[in-house]
Amino acid sequence: MRVACLLSFLLICGEVLAQPKITVVDQVSITAAHLLTPPAGTDRLILSVVHLDGSGWQPEPVLHALRQATAILSQCGVGIVGVEWVSLATQPHYLDFSTPLARELVRLHPVAKPAIYLVRDTANRRAYDAEAFGRANSPTRPELADTIWVTVGARDLGIVFAHELAHVLMDSGEHSNEPGNLMRSETAPANTALSVTQCTRLRDTARENGLLRR
Ligand SMILES: [Zn+2]
Repeated sequence: MRVACLLSFLLICGEVLAQPKITVVDQVSITAAHLLTPPAGTDRLILSVVHLDGSGWQPEPVLHALRQATAILSQCGVGIVGVEWVSLATQPHYLDFSTPLARELVRLHPVAKPAIYLVRDTANRRAYDAEAFGRANSPTRPELADTIWVTVGARDLGIVFAHELAHVLMDSGEHSNEPGNLMRSETAPANTALSVTQCTRLRDTARENGLLRR
């Protein structure tokens, strides 16, 4: 009897010590019908969106922005045909982007990539509204490859999603000076165009990296 009591005490203690840092509070599949994906695409893209509870993000503007990003990428024949949305309750220090904590978060709750993380803010000194990690710029932080981190309040959100996704799909941080181009360094509502060359590169690289399905 005493042994049983001692054992159960140890088990309870063990559970308390191993308290999860991350719990799933919501999970939703957003379909092509919800994303208004044009049917004529040559390549299919499925995204993960990771929402952090307490980050301040609301689902409606995100869905609107995902639709806009879907429309923008469709000019390259890429159709976003599904988004796996997961909402996570985390310890508060994960709410703001920093490379070490972002790596930890990705390790603790892996999702299919490419993945967009909706965070509260950034702890980086050079504060960007959004950051994308390709494979070429992530050899020292492999967990972050093919992820995008966007802070709440980022303007022109649909353009931001499409711009950062294009960085990931092209595995390139390159920007364009062409007027109206999506890859201008300043995102703006009028900058939505991708050239034929950019589209070819985007599809070729993303297919090679297994990020697009035909
Ligand atoms: Zn950029």
